[in-house]
Order: sequence, then C-alpha cells, then structure tokens
Amino acid sequence: MIELKGISKVYNKSKPNEVKALQNINLKIEAESMLAIMGPSGSGKSTLLNILGCLDVPTAGIYKLNNQEIQSLSQGKLAAVRNRHFGFVVQDFALIEEYTVMKNVEIPLHYSKNKANKKERILTLLDTLGMKEKASEYAYNLSGGQRQRVAIARALINNPDIILADEPTGALDQEMGEQVLSIFKRINKEQNKTVLIVTHDDKIAKQCEGIVNIVDGKIY
Ligand code: ADP
Ligand code: ADP
Repeated sequence: MIELKGISKVYNKSKPNEVKALQNINLKIEAESMLAIMGPSGSGKSTLLNILGCLDVPTAGIYKLNNQEIQSLSQGKLAAVRNRHFGFVVQDFALIEEYTVMKNVEIPLHYSKNKANKKERILTLLDTLGMKEKASEYAYNLSGGQRQRVAIARALINNPDIILADEPTGALDQEMGEQVLSIFKRINKEQNKTVLIVTHDDKIAKQCEGIVNIVDGKIY
C-alpha cells in the first residue's frame, strides 16, 4: 500500500546548517501490517513519519500510496490525502486540557464531511477503548493511560486506514504502555488498520510484525 523509492529529506538545503535527515530510503509497507520504527535520537524517525503522514514532503524520491504518486501533490491535495488516510498519535497526547473527552475526540470531525451520528460514533469508539464512562470528564482529570486512549480515539474517529504513532508509550509507565500497545494490536487485527509505531522500547518493538531500523537517515 505504501512504497518509498529513493526518498531523501534535506533540511536547510545548501545553507551552513544543512541536515541530511533521510538518505535514499527504500521501503514497502503492506496494508494491514504493524511495524515498529527504531533508531537513535536524531536518526530521522520523526522525519520519516512526517513524510509518510503527508505532514511534510521529501526533497527527492517517489512516495506511492495505493499506487498513486503523492510526493509532488499541492499542499491542498496533500492535506486531503492526509485527512482521508492517516490518524496520528503522539507521545504527549496533545489533548486540549479544558475540553471534555467527547470534545477532544470530536475535533477531527470539524474538518470532515462525515458528521452523521457524531455523538453515537464517538461513544461507540470510546466504548471499545474502555473510555465511555469518561466521555464527560475533562482531559485534565485523566491519567496518562486514559489520555492516550482518548488520543487514540481522536486518531480513529475519521476511520483512517493507517495509524502513525510517535513514541505513543514514551510518557507512560510499563503497565500503561503495555495496555496502549494492546489497543494498537487490536486495532491492527480487528479493524485491519496499518499501524506504524516509532519506539525506543525493545519490548514494544518485539510485539510488532517487523522492525524498521534507522541510523543516520538510512534504513538498515
Ligand atoms: P528522530 O525522530 O529520529 O529523533 P528527526 O527526524 O527528528 O529524528 O531528526 C533527524 C535530523 O533532522 C536531526 O539531525 C534533526 O536535528 C534534524 N531536523 C529535524 N527536523 C528539522 C527541521 N524542521 N529543521 C532542521 N533540522 C531538522
Ligand atoms: P523527537 O522526540 O521525535 O526526537 P525532536 O525533539 O527531535 O523530536 O523534534 C521535535 C520537533 O522539532 C520535530 O517536529 C522536529 O521536526 C523539529 N526539529 C528537530 N530538530 C530540529 C532542528 N535542528 N531544527 C528545527 N527543527 C527541529
């Protein structure tokens, strides 16, 4: 479903502070797979995730999503591809603290055409994540594990086919981290979603189907 051919990313090109963040990346990601992306800090993991999720564009190379080349789409078209296909989960949850759980999960629907049965859809989703009882709770009253469940619900509400998670367990203790990982495994197996997880944690990575190792902007 995803194919990267010769993808490179250079920040501050031709300036004294030029950084070659990705160099000639070739990568195929099958639909419905669950992969870990590992590598030292500064090796290019976030850059890769940003390009995969259409948050950023490569400096060179070809990015095919479902056989369509998307590396040279306009900003507007790229945003449409992003909203249609990708859900994002980040390390620090990025919830709006003074919103309820319900309102946080609703945010992506503001940009979506599909607003039918909004409340029911959110509650059904929260139920599958064990968070239905907390629907009216404010984000600032939640534990870390609960926050990440809400963030996962927000990533899923538009029914994306690919979930991109950048250190989703990085701010959680071991047990909460395991619980969040089991949610990703369930989403992968039961909802047939492709899941890509950037992680530093070997225990998390070993539970994925494969590991993409990045060092100095190259895949090994
Ligand atoms: P990782 O996620 O593995 O820590 P990143 O993709 O964040 O790695 O960064 C890869 C390299 O690119 C690092 O040297 C980082 O400093 C640099 N970098 C990342 N984003 C930018 C940016 N927006 N501008 C300039 N350099 C950047
Ligand atoms: P991570 O936890 O993924 O390693 P970083 O702390 O490396 O995150 O980067 C956080 C954000 O800052 C990212 O969006 C990245 O693109 C940006 N960034 C990282 N390094 C640089 C840099 N040297 N110049 C500008 N932006 C950077």
